[in-house]
Amino acid sequence: MSFLSDKKGEHEAACEKAIQSGDAGRARMHAAKAAEFCFALARQSTGPVAASYVKTAEGWLEIAEKLKTAKLPKAQQPGGDVGKAAEPAAGAAAAGSEFEVAEIPSVSFDDIAGMASAKATIMEMIVYPMREPEKARAMKLKPGGGVILYGPPGNGKTMFGKAIAHEINAPFFYASGAQLRSKWHGESEQNLSRLLKAAQAHPVAVLFLDEIDGLLPRRTASSSVVDNRIVTQFLADVGGFRESENALLILGATNEPWSIDEAVFRTGRFDEKIYIGLPDAEARDALFAKAFDGVSCAADVDLASVAQSLDGYTGSDIVGIAKKARQAAFRRSIEQGADPQVTKEDVEAALRAIPSSVTPALVARYEKFNRERFQ
Ligand code: ADP
Repeated sequence: MSFLSDKKGEHEAACEKAIQSGDAGRARMHAAKAAEFCFALARQSTGPVAASYVKTAEGWLEIAEKLKTAKLPKAQQPGGDVGKAAEPAAGAAAAGSEFEVAEIPSVSFDDIAGMASAKATIMEMIVYPMREPEKARAMKLKPGGGVILYGPPGNGKTMFGKAIAHEINAPFFYASGAQLRSKWHGESEQNLSRLLKAAQAHPVAVLFLDEIDGLLPRRTASSSVVDNRIVTQFLADVGGFRESENALLILGATNEPWSIDEAVFRTGRFDEKIYIGLPDAEARDALFAKAFDGVSCAADVDLASVAQSLDGYTGSDIVGIAKKARQAAFRRSIEQGADPQVTKEDVEAALRAIPSSVTPALVARYEKFNRERFQ
């Protein structure tokens, strides 16, 4: 290592330390110094190497600028509030760990309408190898890995993630890309590493990374240094867990698969990419049937034909419509002092109040993406 790169490294580390101890002034000075040494390294180099030093230097200047006005909490815990457990298990906080042990979710595959092929893929990839470890080992198959779940919002990606954890009796770790992202140099990577380690501390775990496009955005010529580093480190970290003994399933969920960095798809870190689209006729029927199960409905309420008419609606739209109709019936029963019963008018009013939350153009965009990327 040259003197210049030693100095660059020292100032980078000192800046991170100062941020963590809440000293913005000192952090800013070290960020500016790190930029200075990057520029000096750029002057000593040529071509792409020089260009990359310039880019890093600009990143440090950007951070120094932000630190001018930043209010850092004193003695900030690095990473802050990441890796929230789905629902903390009573008294199950891991000793000495900032992560609480995530609970095993109660929602199961049976609660999920439709998604037959997604369920089958996951059964083969993780559920059966967990249930039949000897047979899986004999075939050199290791449970776990990475899966991208993508599709329009509100169609059960998160719910599916929880149900997978339930099926394999594993704790469910959840973090969103936005939650892991930090504008502070080095913190996003640290957040991610810590979360991976916390999940990996369990023999079996499901780690759900929501809005993974926000964490691993497509890198372009104008991407920030932070983006580039996070993608690179994520790929390295995930590579590391694949070598380990633990069964860790990483589910990366996104509504915008086209915004994810190409390398995330390409490098084989995510073995499966599963499209979670709008519910089909059968799934809509199942959603409605479940939402009105045990609920008194007037004789002229034809749930099956309403469910059929909801082509183009998301799962959560359909659940929302059913809830709105039940609420109307409940309200009326309170006002009239009668037994609650859902009427045809309640359902029709709910249909008028809740339109589909996705446009045909958006659905077409997913279909185009599927064709171009995976077929
Ligand atoms: P996403 O993660 O894709 O945005 P969610 O998992 O948050 O979607 O789904 C939102 C809600 O919609 C769920 O909590 C559930 O009530 C309902 N829902 C959506 N799709 C389904 C489905 N296929 N089966 C059962 N419930 C569903």
